Amino acid sequence: MSSADSGKHSSQWTPGARRGLDRQVRVSTSTRRSRFSGNPNATGIASALLKWFPSAARDMPWRRTLDPYAIWVSEIMLQQTQVKTVIPYWERWMRELPTIDALANAPLDIVLRLWEGLGYYSRARNLQKAARILVARHRGRIPDDPSELLELPGIGRYTAGAIGSIAFDRPDAILDGNIIRVFCRLRVLPGDPRAPELNRRLWSLAAAVVVAAKALPAPAGVPRTGLRFAGNCSRMNQALMELGATVCRVSNPDCGDCPLNSICRAHALRAPHRFPTAKAGPKVVQRRLATVVWSTGPKWLIRRRSDDEVNGGFWEFPNQEIARDTDAAAALAGWLRVPVDSLEPRGRCRHSITRYRIVEEIFSLTRPPGRNLPAGELRWVDRETLAAIPLTGAHRRIKTRLVDNHTATGTSGRAALPRPICGGKRPV
Ligand code: SF4
Repeated sequence: MSSADSGKHSSQWTPGARRGLDRQVRVSTSTRRSRFSGNPNATGIASALLKWFPSAARDMPWRRTLDPYAIWVSEIMLQQTQVKTVIPYWERWMRELPTIDALANAPLDIVLRLWEGLGYYSRARNLQKAARILVARHRGRIPDDPSELLELPGIGRYTAGAIGSIAFDRPDAILDGNIIRVFCRLRVLPGDPRAPELNRRLWSLAAAVVVAAKALPAPAGVPRTGLRFAGNCSRMNQALMELGATVCRVSNPDCGDCPLNSICRAHALRAPHRFPTAKAGPKVVQRRLATVVWSTGPKWLIRRRSDDEVNGGFWEFPNQEIARDTDAAAALAGWLRVPVDSLEPRGRCRHSITRYRIVEEIFSLTRPPGRNLPAGELRWVDRETLAAIPLTGAHRRIKTRLVDNHTATGTSGRAALPRPICGGKRPV
């Protein structure tokens, strides 16, 4: 499982002022040396976490199987997404596409529809590309060799390590935002964890811990009924993730209940919140779109996003980017070559994709098409097709408001003020 589950895997660094930190840590270390000194070693970390994990492991459906495909799907879904969000998606995916063969042979629209709402859709497309490679080269099986895993689309060092350790009990290291936070606190490591030198040290510690776990006896504790772990490497890496998600949280780490508190340097210094050192995120960019919900009789016009765009392969109501101070209706009318008063303002939809904060101005149009259709892969579809095809999250909400409630909504007239159609913050 990877990354940004704020309740589980987070890629955020905790805020911590670098200025004066090293000095403060040196001073604090000397005054508290009687409580704790020295870096916790890999065997100490592994031993404490292996004892703790059986009773602490949360129940997740992918922890009830050793099927490498099911584990791989869960790891990809969990990237940037919380456990509770992923569970229904994973269950539905495993019902509809239970094998690598089924995924490889599924139409792209089915794959994207199953992913719709999870965001970061390149993950779904890469899963299918990788499944097709596995069918062609590995008889539909996931190899346990990390170098072969790393050749597959969408599988990087973290995911290869997670599949290797969780599915095959290999001593493969993993490092995500949660584990980085735990390690930086255990060893009071200041600096940007993405900087090459510190990142190398963190991977090295992750490798040492999982190798140490392999050499230890299996823990005596009994896990929750039904949970299955391939061995100590699986337990170890999942214990690290679990600790970062549930105990060593970004804010308010629960040091009192932490199995590592007797060997944690940040805890001894009462300074967990200072590690890891924060780094500024990417600059937020505001964008504005003009969107047309164009109907003729019982059909609506949709356009497919091209593969090289964000959310490639998804369908949406045609739209065009406009400048911040442009009149949206006039821009849309010019683009579609229709009179501006044929466009009815229907509201506004705010949403985010990665660093982009997007406002879409929505207009409906009911005149028959001439030679004025926008470019791209277009279809006129009925309500049933709209319900079945993959739409981006924002356009699914627009469809709910303006297509499903088409009769009830009626017309508001050009003079009506735009009102919000959707305003979610989740990526679409
Ligand atoms: S003692 Fe506190 S800071 Fe240290 S690893 Fe545990 S929860 Fe994190």
